[in-house]
Amino acid sequence: MDHQRFDDAVTKRINAMVERVEQAKGADLYYYNQPITELRGGARVLVRGREMGMFASYSYLGLIGHPRINKAAKDAIDKYGTGTHGVRSLAGTLDVHIELEQTITDFKHAEAAITYTSGYVTNLTVVSTLMGRHDYVFSDKLNHASIVDGCMMSGAKFVRFKHNDLNDLQRRLEEAPASATKLVIADAVFSMDGDIIDLPRVVDLCNKHHAWLMIDEAHSLGVLGKTGRGIEEHFGLGDVVDIKMGTLSKTIPSVGGYVAGRKDLITYLRHASRAYIFSAALPPAQAAAANESFKIILDEPERIEKLRVNADQFIMGLKKRGFDTLYTVTAIVPVLCGDDMVAYAMTREVQNKDVFVLPVVSPAVEQGKARLRATVTAAHEPDEIEHAMNEIEIAGKKLGVIK
Ligand SMILES: *Cc1c(COP(=O)(O)O)cnc(C)c1O
Repeated sequence: MDHQRFDDAVTKRINAMVERVEQAKGADLYYYNQPITELRGGARVLVRGREMGMFASYSYLGLIGHPRINKAAKDAIDKYGTGTHGVRSLAGTLDVHIELEQTITDFKHAEAAITYTSGYVTNLTVVSTLMGRHDYVFSDKLNHASIVDGCMMSGAKFVRFKHNDLNDLQRRLEEAPASATKLVIADAVFSMDGDIIDLPRVVDLCNKHHAWLMIDEAHSLGVLGKTGRGIEEHFGLGDVVDIKMGTLSKTIPSVGGYVAGRKDLITYLRHASRAYIFSAALPPAQAAAANESFKIILDEPERIEKLRVNADQFIMGLKKRGFDTLYTVTAIVPVLCGDDMVAYAMTREVQNKDVFVLPVVSPAVEQGKARLRATVTAAHEPDEIEHAMNEIEIAGKKLGVIK
């Protein structure tokens, strides 16, 4: 096949991307899709034949590899095999799916829950099912791409407010027609910066303007709240979020996404959201793994406390060393580097010392705000965190990120 059949815009886009990738590879600065060949305990991984401390994991509570979860997955394979019989509404509903949805319902103190095959798909289908032309969605500027895509797909008027700036949200709500149907959406913990949405004020504004509220708990499930139930527990607010969205691929070491909420809402989504109707459900092993994980969070609450302590150590230690970590207060710790190239070089230096961190560059973040996006989990020990920070410090000095 001749790749240069056409000289059109698509060809140009492809060529530009390929060139960028080749350049990065040529400069030994390509950190995309590095394969991990083995998990060694909760906090160490084997990469390119070298054992590294894992500081890029979203397995916040260190549950990945937990024996109870592995066993639940294996048992499910023995019982059901590896797949379903098709989409949920035909023959694809297994009792592990019902069980998982009940577990999520209970965990979130909701009336009902629905699961989808990924968090991305959950946001895409839920926002576009609920909202339509003539409606208004208000989305934080730093919301996850899946939310942005869901908003665009819905065809609703897409209003973005300044990051965690509730005065701006208020202004924008006031500008919209009072009679319009409105939905406000935000990440609970922002995936690039690690800060927390000011939920109490968002709730007030939603009540005042009769707006629905959807919160994405990808990085707060198991992280926020004394028992890990998330942002409502964190603020002691009770049931204030209408659409409680989360993923099963981070703290929960499986794959999938969910929404919990009022019974009527979930019934509607079950009968109207296209990703549920036209796409097969989670494989049984993944559903069983997710189900067991929620139980472990409740059985082993010390993991939540340990994560808290580890995150504090990491954030304070990096700040003390002179790094800018923005406004993070959670386990996601941005280590600002500036230029994309500096972030790549920092990654290389630190990985060469067997600390596995990854860079985030534009367009994922603003130009000039490239960073290492480092994370800690409950699986780290204090001396491992100290060691990682020392290596980051050495690299930071060498590259002029800190003095
Ligand atoms: C990771 C993430 C998602 C997508 O979840 P997947 O299960 O990986 O598809 C959605 N929202 C946020 C905020 C995320 O960080």
